[in-house]
Amino acid sequence: MAKICVIGTGYVGLVTGTCFSDMGHQVTCLDIDKSRIEQLNRGIMPIYEPGLQQLVEQNVEAGRLDFTTSYPKALDNSEFAIIAVGTPSSDDGEADMHYVKMAADSIAEYLDHPIIIVNKSTVPVGTGDWVAEIIHDQNSHDTLNFSVVSNPEFLREGSAVNDFMKPDRVVLGSTNLKAARKVAELYEALRSPIMITDLRTVEMIKYASNAYLATRISYINEIANICESMGADVREVARGMGMDKRIGPAFLDAGLGWGGSCFPKDVKALAHMAATHGAHPQLLQAVVDINHNQRKGAVKKLKGALGDLKGKMIGVLGLSFKPNTDDTRDAPALDIIRMLLAAGATVQGFDPQAMKASKAELPDLILCQNPYDVAKGADALLLATEWNEFKSLDFERIKANMRGRVIVDGRNIWDGQDLHDLGFIYFGIGVPSPDA
Ligand code: NAD
Repeated sequence: MAKICVIGTGYVGLVTGTCFSDMGHQVTCLDIDKSRIEQLNRGIMPIYEPGLQQLVEQNVEAGRLDFTTSYPKALDNSEFAIIAVGTPSSDDGEADMHYVKMAADSIAEYLDHPIIIVNKSTVPVGTGDWVAEIIHDQNSHDTLNFSVVSNPEFLREGSAVNDFMKPDRVVLGSTNLKAARKVAELYEALRSPIMITDLRTVEMIKYASNAYLATRISYINEIANICESMGADVREVARGMGMDKRIGPAFLDAGLGWGGSCFPKDVKALAHMAATHGAHPQLLQAVVDINHNQRKGAVKKLKGALGDLKGKMIGVLGLSFKPNTDDTRDAPALDIIRMLLAAGATVQGFDPQAMKASKAELPDLILCQNPYDVAKGADALLLATEWNEFKSLDFERIKANMRGRVIVDGRNIWDGQDLHDLGFIYFGIGVPSPDA
């Protein structure tokens, strides 16, 4: 069993460290955020991720998992240092690498034994070489033996533990094949396909994968908009398309578009990389534009149904960027709420997990305790994030609570005809509206 240090205890680092400890390895998770580590040491999860808390507790109790803010302690005798820090967007779309630089600097400062540095953060092509240079140039041990392996993470928030434990593939790249094989050994117990190739190619695989998934969603949203103006039903179109083995059904749900901590920044970072290397990323730009327009489209639908939004009360169901997470980074819901507030509407909302983060971002948003309170006095109800608990609501009760009758189903989870029959004015995304 290996001794592993994981740098960064966010969605990726905490899940990675916990899962490796559950596989029997000795793991120390490190973060520069003191309050986060204090919380973890008291058994409080800094993020909501189904199944994670129990797994953390089990492995802490078994003595295989601990948390620290100390680099010397975390690196002590570790065979692997996994970097899982954030790589947010800079203003111009370029990946902001200062957390990775800080992590590499700290490794360089405290490292006193051979180690394999595994880069799990999503980073621009060439980062592996750059991290190796930092450690090489800054470490005081001249003959220190270390290697850098790129190992991007493909887990999804909301099903992160399961995704980590059952990956479709593990992708590894290094200039040192022996080091890549050592990292492969960590994953062997998962019995998933392991691909080893060169460092830069692996860094590109991650960006190309995320940009492709975002492209599929923007594509079906473009089709949805065409469907809407021509009386076709995008849900059936997607079903028919998805039966084609060359296409497949995943990521063909029309709605309010993609958001979160990955797709937006990764599509922008890929476009930025392309542009700075003389390529012309025209498809990527269109993918971003369609996504933005999808959010504006929800506001347009509300304006179309209610007229001037000034003084109107809009209820919003779902605030996180997708169900089963408390993550609100670039959430379509919050972007749309911002537009509604700017248009003079009052907005009240509810989310099963993301209330605190949403309020921190949007102090003017009124928080409610449940979907029925969101409906109270509302002129319109917007479904922004498709949490399971919103799928079968008591619409008689919703109707009794609302002031108006308009429903915009931003994720196509409800039956428009049923709601129309109950007396609502229903709009979905790319579906024929009984009220249009
Ligand atoms: P996050 O923001 O949730 O967590 C990052 C953590 O790193 C924070 O707790 C922060 O305090 C810590 N940190 C920053 N600098 C540090 C340093 N120098 N030393 C120690 N800790 C430091 O980020 P995340 O969502 O877990 O994403 C991490 C990386 O993984 C990103 O590159 C992201 O693109 C990628 N990724 C994310 C997901 C996802 O679903 N969130 C999926 C796949 C890949």
